Amino acid sequence: MVLDVRNNPALLKLDLYCKGIRIDDSYFVAESGRKILRTRAGLGSGLELVLPHGLWTNVPVTEGFAQESPYILFRENDKLVIRRDEPGREEVAIVEASPKPSWYDRETTTGKSMTRVGSLQGTYLGVYPSRVCEYWLEKPDKTNCKFCSVGLNLGADDADGKSVDEVLEVVHAAREESGITYVDFNTGHYEGETYLDVLEPYIRRVKEETGLLIGVQTPPHSDLGRYERLRKMGVNRVSFCFEIFDPERFVDVCPGKHREYGLPRYLDAIRHCATLGQDRGLSFDPWVSNGEIIAGLEPAESSKKAIEWITSVGAIPTVCVFRPLQGTDYSDVPPPRTEDLIDVFGTLYDQCMENELPIGVAPNIHVSLVLLPEECAWLSRNRGRYWRHRARLQLARRAFGWSFRRQLEQAEQRYRSSSNRVAAAAV
Ligand code: SF4
Repeated sequence: MVLDVRNNPALLKLDLYCKGIRIDDSYFVAESGRKILRTRAGLGSGLELVLPHGLWTNVPVTEGFAQESPYILFRENDKLVIRRDEPGREEVAIVEASPKPSWYDRETTTGKSMTRVGSLQGTYLGVYPSRVCEYWLEKPDKTNCKFCSVGLNLGADDADGKSVDEVLEVVHAAREESGITYVDFNTGHYEGETYLDVLEPYIRRVKEETGLLIGVQTPPHSDLGRYERLRKMGVNRVSFCFEIFDPERFVDVCPGKHREYGLPRYLDAIRHCATLGQDRGLSFDPWVSNGEIIAGLEPAESSKKAIEWITSVGAIPTVCVFRPLQGTDYSDVPPPRTEDLIDVFGTLYDQCMENELPIGVAPNIHVSLVLLPEECAWLSRNRGRYWRHRARLQLARRAFGWSFRRQLEQAEQRYRSSSNRVAAAAV
């Protein structure tokens, strides 16, 4: 493993998550890249960049710790350059601003700004379609997760209540103009476990009209049969954010999740959903169960145990890096140290490969808010060991890419001809 951010893009991505970046006056965000949006489960608030080797990222810029960053972003003629803030201003990397989608400045036909309905996180569309997570509304004391900023975001960068038609309008724009392949639906907690009922109408329409890959991130429903139903509906990924593996720490960081569901219920749902995909191998109709954690809010050893547990049941870990967002309960907690997390992310890659999990197979999915398992190959000391599974993944990637393109074309043809029929009937 190369321990030099100039030659290891995953290490640079991790270091930027932990340290943030300062922006020199020569760079004007609004002119070239994507606006800074504080959307989606409250972990992302930064500048969207593409690092060397095509690693997309979201770099903290507005939080206090980013003002102390050793990295500064400059515009030098037509290039964006990250340099170290030290005598000689050593060049660290030449990067690109994530392209600003053409539809970002448009409104839906109902007059809502499209970015308030959905926004790109890297190259996929993230939608938080319903009202704010109810942990934020409790009185006298809110029980929201302490790192989360969702209740701060709504009404600012994200619209409360989005109709199915509004979401579909944005999905079609993102598909046609940004070439997305994946839509991720995210909800918080709602009394009465209504989150899947809320999402199902969106899921059916998106699948039917576009054929895109779909993911769902909600609390774990008590009726595990609902997940087989989601799979039949065309959902490809279910994700359960338990955040913290240490049971005592979980209670402290996520008081609402602890009271309503408890850590064991999250783990049961992950395990159950992983079994639903086990007969499918590297299928053309993928189904993945994800367990999501935040590194930096519990000891690294505990994060590694979480990764080992998730992969041992056949699920894939999503590992976020804790970011002390402004306005949150943890805004004063320091971000983690890069050196403490390198091994966590190395373990992420190693465990996915040891357990022969299907990572990095879906086409054109670049995620800015986390290091993807396949990107973590750069942080593994054992990378060479897994040549056999790497070869399988490469074949699967090609085959899946081919079949998925056909699936998209067929969905598009179906959608066009049904739209034409509707238009003809209206004339
Ligand atoms: S469940 Fe926790 S992380 Fe998710 S939206 Fe609610 S408070 Fe935020």
